[in-house]
Amino acid sequence: MEIIFLGTSSGTPTKTRNVSGIVIRKHHAKQWSLIDCGEGTQHQILHTNLSFKYLDTIYITHIHGDHCYGLPGLLASATMAGRIEPLNIVAPLAVKVFLETMQMHTELRLSFDIDFIVVEEYNKLYEREDFCISIVPLSHRVPSWGYLFEEKGIGIKLDTQKLLEDNIPKGVIWGEIQKSSEVCLENGKTIQSKTYYLPQRKARKIAISGDNDTPSIWGNIEDIDLLVHEATYTDEMAKKAEDTGHSTVKKVAMFAEDYGVKNLILTHFSPRYQADSVHENGVPEIEDEAKIYYQANLGLAHDFALFHLDKQLEMHYQNIRQD
Ligand SMILES: [Zn+2]
Ligand SMILES: [Zn+2]
Repeated sequence: MEIIFLGTSSGTPTKTRNVSGIVIRKHHAKQWSLIDCGEGTQHQILHTNLSFKYLDTIYITHIHGDHCYGLPGLLASATMAGRIEPLNIVAPLAVKVFLETMQMHTELRLSFDIDFIVVEEYNKLYEREDFCISIVPLSHRVPSWGYLFEEKGIGIKLDTQKLLEDNIPKGVIWGEIQKSSEVCLENGKTIQSKTYYLPQRKARKIAISGDNDTPSIWGNIEDIDLLVHEATYTDEMAKKAEDTGHSTVKKVAMFAEDYGVKNLILTHFSPRYQADSVHENGVPEIEDEAKIYYQANLGLAHDFALFHLDKQLEMHYQNIRQD
């Protein structure tokens, strides 16, 4: 599973960071989805090999401008690029009203249909071809949601050695054992298929948080393999964080450590934090504070950072910016 950061600044863009936009896709997949779409997200997409044609779903975490002002331009450009495939948008009701109003007043006619899911009214597991998505309510100044992506399509593997030992030779029957829970053998004996399944790898789970001042909300979800969370301020600015409904680095790092999150990526940094020549991609204050409280695998997001979570749950980093 891969995450690509298109924007990592909170509130306003900086010279090196755009506002929120995160891509999720299966490793090397053409199909991708976008979580949040701050202004300028479409410009960031131009520096990647992502194609509008394969954009499956846009998830918006909340109505604040740095998370959704990029939608009108992106949808208009997708139309001009000739997209015809329907697009799914999962977002708060206010975003739907915002888009409908914009379309009406700017006479924007899209070349594709939008299948809109209003998060406030949705209480089912949202299923796509690549992932199952749970919607998680968070705590912020305005209603805010996070999205938990659980991978689909992990195949069942047979314990072929055990099958052969029990005189079940290779043939059509192996396919039946893979498909059905019970299978009747030629000798009339019925077997429970699962006795011949190898222990299955667990489906990977990536949690992508919207703006949120209470990271422990994510503690209600079992075994998150990678948590992507905002860390708008350092602890020095704890009061400001509290007043604006954001998390500090310390708060997120402490939660992730206590809860045993194996991989943590911090993003959505206030523009007051700038990279320096030593910490090329990171921000020194944020990195230093996070490392005091969190000992496992830490990633600091920057624009065009790609993080790949492999099947062994190891995280790999790459800068994918194309000029
Ligand atoms: Zn924000
Ligand atoms: Zn916000």
